[in-house]
Amino acid sequence: MDMNGKIAALLRDFAAIQKSKQSMWGYKRAAAAILALEEPIESLLQPDGTLRKIPNIGPSSSRVILEVLKTGTSETVERAIAGSGQKSDIERRRDLRGHFLSRAQVLAALRNRKLGGPELGDYHGDLQMHSTWSDGSQTLDAIVEAGIARGYQFCGVTDHSYGLPIARGVSMHKLFEQHRVIDGLNEQYSGRFRLIKGIEANIRADGSVDMEPQELRQLELVVAAPHSALRTTTDQTARMVAAVKTKGVHILGHPRGRMYGSRPGVSADWDRVFETAKKTGVAIEIDGDPARQDIDHDLAKRAVDSGCLFALDSDAHSTRELRYAETAIAHARLAGVPKDRIVNCWPVDELLEWLKSRRA
Ligand SMILES: [Zn+2]
Repeated sequence: MDMNGKIAALLRDFAAIQKSKQSMWGYKRAAAAILALEEPIESLLQPDGTLRKIPNIGPSSSRVILEVLKTGTSETVERAIAGSGQKSDIERRRDLRGHFLSRAQVLAALRNRKLGGPELGDYHGDLQMHSTWSDGSQTLDAIVEAGIARGYQFCGVTDHSYGLPIARGVSMHKLFEQHRVIDGLNEQYSGRFRLIKGIEANIRADGSVDMEPQELRQLELVVAAPHSALRTTTDQTARMVAAVKTKGVHILGHPRGRMYGSRPGVSADWDRVFETAKKTGVAIEIDGDPARQDIDHDLAKRAVDSGCLFALDSDAHSTRELRYAETAIAHARLAGVPKDRIVNCWPVDELLEWLKSRRA
């Protein structure tokens, strides 16, 4: 039982029915603080029945937390939902929180010796992240330094493609400029660290990727990911199958495009998508962004059964978010993904060879 997850979900429900923006943000912040706790919240309960101080948790959130710890539910939140006229919307949101891990659960999965799958030390580098060249706040220099500090041998820089202007997608011209900077850094850190020239390309509605084959060929790493039609229940198997059949694609990024408590992402016959990915050799990503966790350990088990390769990535937009890779590793451990099927766990030369062999 993940009490942190349960309490955070109730605080998010409470946030959703607030009339004032200020209290909505207050409860949202409180929910985020609980999800980010490193230990089970029960351990913060003091002998006098109060909670140890948690940053960003105000008195009214504290009351909800104590209520749940005592009774297993929050009368306050449930009563407010019943009187809000938004019950069906809250129920819809509740259905969109399946198989998400709180930070405390991530750390527990990393520690749990009974689980198989990769360990932190098996993980040699991260293959999806965004820099100041698109919508990220980390410079390429900062990525190298932070990567080395985390014990990595490589990082794939995968800024958004030009087809996604909303995420400040980079033009081909800008991309070539970025490649010159990467070449410089790779020379400077030669033998110590390798930046990989990547892109996060966008999967269109018909399953094609929003870049030309000759453009994909300029890149060492292509992550293809869906960013549209993520709220419809219409079957999109054909779209995802077409994406993993696209020449030059290495990784199917955040395959569903789901978002915690807000959108379900792509509906598809995932076994068919995974079987196709196995045939074409595309790696299935576990995206470790806490709001994404996409695919999660439950679906990942099916990709294991299909024989797929995996990529475990942070999707970080800042160096602080590089630790999101740990969320992906935790899901892989819960799913029992064999480490030899995780491209991030391969020696860097083997990884580069694989990337090259699949270039468009
Ligand atoms: Zn994306």
